[in-house]
Amino acid sequence: MDRPLLISALLTHAERLHGEREIVSRRVEGDVHRTTYRELGQRARRLANAVAALGVERGQRVGTLAWNGYRHMELYYAVSGSGAVLHTLNPRLHPDQLVWIAEHAQDQVLFFDLSFLPLVEAVAARLPGVKAFVAMTDRAHMPASSKVPNLLCYEELVETHSPEFDWPEFDEKLASSLCYTSGTTGNPKGVLYSHRSTVLHAYAASMPDALNYSGSDAILPVVPMFHVNAWGIPYIACMVGAKLVFPGPWLDGKSLHDLFEAEGVTVSAGVPTVWQGLLAHVEANSLSFSTMRRTIIGGSACPPAMMRAFQERYDVQVVHAWGMTETSPLGSVCRLGPGQAALDAEQRLALQSKQGRAVFGVEMKIVDADGSELPHDGQAAGELLVRGPWIASGYFRGEGSGPLQGGWFPTGDVSTIDADGFMQITDRSKDVIKSGGEWIGSIDLENIAMAHPAVAMAACIAARHPKWDERPLLVVVRKPGQALERDELIRFYEGKIAKWWTPDDVVFVDSIPLGATGKVQKNLLRDAWRDHLLAAA
Ligand code: AMP
Repeated sequence: MDRPLLISALLTHAERLHGEREIVSRRVEGDVHRTTYRELGQRARRLANAVAALGVERGQRVGTLAWNGYRHMELYYAVSGSGAVLHTLNPRLHPDQLVWIAEHAQDQVLFFDLSFLPLVEAVAARLPGVKAFVAMTDRAHMPASSKVPNLLCYEELVETHSPEFDWPEFDEKLASSLCYTSGTTGNPKGVLYSHRSTVLHAYAASMPDALNYSGSDAILPVVPMFHVNAWGIPYIACMVGAKLVFPGPWLDGKSLHDLFEAEGVTVSAGVPTVWQGLLAHVEANSLSFSTMRRTIIGGSACPPAMMRAFQERYDVQVVHAWGMTETSPLGSVCRLGPGQAALDAEQRLALQSKQGRAVFGVEMKIVDADGSELPHDGQAAGELLVRGPWIASGYFRGEGSGPLQGGWFPTGDVSTIDADGFMQITDRSKDVIKSGGEWIGSIDLENIAMAHPAVAMAACIAARHPKWDERPLLVVVRKPGQALERDELIRFYEGKIAKWWTPDDVVFVDSIPLGATGKVQKNLLRDAWRDHLLAAA
């Protein structure tokens, strides 16, 4: 039969088959809130009526500025399910950027968590196209703000609208959600997902050898719902009927660990920087994980030292995955299979630091500067190109001919692919270090530094060099109380890497700047330290 793949069907399925399964949220209001998929369905239908009453039409965008929580989940289904487009804004962006993005997306209504009231107050006057601002709280917590026009209360909207709503059927290729990716140069670019791409991505991501989500899991997404749809977890959870645990704004190690333990979380997902905070807390307080069995790490390379800590010390399996906003995001997962059974522990760890094999639905190839395909020998490095039914073909309201090269999406990542299909990112193409005409991959160098017990965080950048053009420079944050010096860290590289890859120098800093999605902002580090080796020469 020709049945469309629609997001509303995920919710209807969860309501019918997993109605009693729980959704637990730490709320901005300060308490822990509990609901079920049955209630989610009812409230999403009320909200769909409310969104329609606010004048939002099919295809129009509804913005959110919200943490991970049940109300945000209700919006995921109410907005997309009724045929409008959910636009998740990243509250960590600069207000000017937010205004630019909300204007570009032509958001009709903006829903926001109370924590973002000051931000909404700062931008509301500059968003004349937004017809209503909805505070995601109840009447008792409603703020009084003279700076926000047409300020509405979320719970009032839900209560005053009927739970009778028939999810409409339409073409599965209609847009369902929108997420902007922040280029380090130029304006942000909008990536539009469709119902079809979202449902296919949810199927693929939950396969056993992909991320292996099941109805027996309690999933805690640390990855924000404003960052590529929390890697698809809000959709996948309905598909498989998993318990969902939302951390709200509390992403520090203690809050996360407490929630893992209190709610019996079995699997979590997030970027390496978040896990660093968690590991530090668990280590400092001699804690363990009683139910957590695996964690999905992506967004930046997961340092092997982090994998070792999770797996060997805490019996939590690390699943390393790669993707980007333009790929929905899942592209590849590093899973060791029967073909890797003969590897010893160290070899397994080394392989796990690769970004893994393409999930079914995504095809990958690597090309040189002329666009010629490179061999899959684990040595040749080139730009990674991907294609598939949940990969972007262009940008929302984008200008010009779009990014595709012969039907493939150029990722801007430099990688190798080995004979077994394991892909390894060596760098972002703009971060690669070109020393005497040869490429040095900064991720390898960072992973080694991160394995040093006195290093809290390390980033490797290209610094200008009088002889070699560029040489690697390491920027390091020491762990508290550690007195690590340059020479010791440089010696730490001996035998671990080709000698000419060894960083030329180390600068110690108090902190390394992170962008809105938790990635190291290497452009800022380059601005600060680009000439460091020239000064030394
Ligand atoms: P974003 O669109 O903000 O999610 O960023 C996508 C980019 O993050 C990719 O193009 C990669 O450069 C980087 N990235 C994502 N996952 C990984 C990973 N596992 N290892 C290394 N880099 C990654």
